[in-house]
Amino acid sequence: MYRFRFHGRGGQGIKTASRIFGTAAFLEGFNAQDFPMYGPERRGAPVAAYVRISREPIVSRGYINNPDVVIVGDETLLFDPIADPLRGFGGGVLFVNTPSTPRIELDGHVVTLDITGLALEYIGRTSAISAGVGAVASKIAGFTKSNTLDAVAMELEEIGVPGELIDKNLKLAEVSYDSVPSFDLESLPSIERSDFVDMGVVQVRLDDGYIGVATIANLGNTAIRKTGNWRILKPIIDMDKCTGCKICFAYCPDVSIYMGDDGKAHINYDYCKGCLICSSVCPFKAITMVREVKTL
Ligand code: SF4
Ligand code: SF4
Repeated sequence: MYRFRFHGRGGQGIKTASRIFGTAAFLEGFNAQDFPMYGPERRGAPVAAYVRISREPIVSRGYINNPDVVIVGDETLLFDPIADPLRGFGGGVLFVNTPSTPRIELDGHVVTLDITGLALEYIGRTSAISAGVGAVASKIAGFTKSNTLDAVAMELEEIGVPGELIDKNLKLAEVSYDSVPSFDLESLPSIERSDFVDMGVVQVRLDDGYIGVATIANLGNTAIRKTGNWRILKPIIDMDKCTGCKICFAYCPDVSIYMGDDGKAHINYDYCKGCLICSSVCPFKAITMVREVKTL
């Protein structure tokens, strides 16, 4: 059995990428099991998806703790303690969607490709890179290009993507497929390891109902969790065009826009996750979105 774990950000199409990979595996004659784990459903929030493929019936269930291949859809997730994509990585293949070379040292193969840049070129947007990510996973597993492209078309059709957009996604998938190497999965050192992790038995204290209060116990939910590194696109306000109408201020879902003493809108980039909403609602076209420059 081979275990692939996909990591990405809400809105990138990581779940669809895992489905494309699972369908390609099925077309290759494998049994395939794939499922996502969203956590809080927010655009830009870390998400994961899991795919097991095997020539034998798959009896394992649950999260993949010891992946043979890790696919990372956004390079900033590499150092995100909540997403923790390298957890359990045992020297297989790590793919990272990035225009740069990540400075990480680990046992195993590291493959990179700027799928976001390719998506801009072939589709005209940086989100929904599922076709490229699915195709990369498929190539790493050694699947044929025809089965990979068939899987892309099938999965995108199923979620209602229009034909013209599917054609663009197929081009993205083909270029992505051609840009990465394939591997002999059986030779990866992680293959022998089991998915099973003994978590032990946890005793949960039961308090009386009347002293129960809502608590935020997870760092991922607190104000110190800065979501600025979720951005793929960054909003820039043209102060000459901003009239101070406050519409973006009202719409920003992450309260990342504040009105300055100059009466104009300003952005707190520590928390702005690059969701595009402010840019789309500004009636004066004062906010443009530019590709975020990230340094690893
Ligand atoms: S919506 Fe546009 S014009 Fe209005 S405050 Fe925001 S940036 Fe300025
Ligand atoms: S500032 Fe704009 S892009 Fe950033 S989170 Fe708010 S609405 Fe989204």
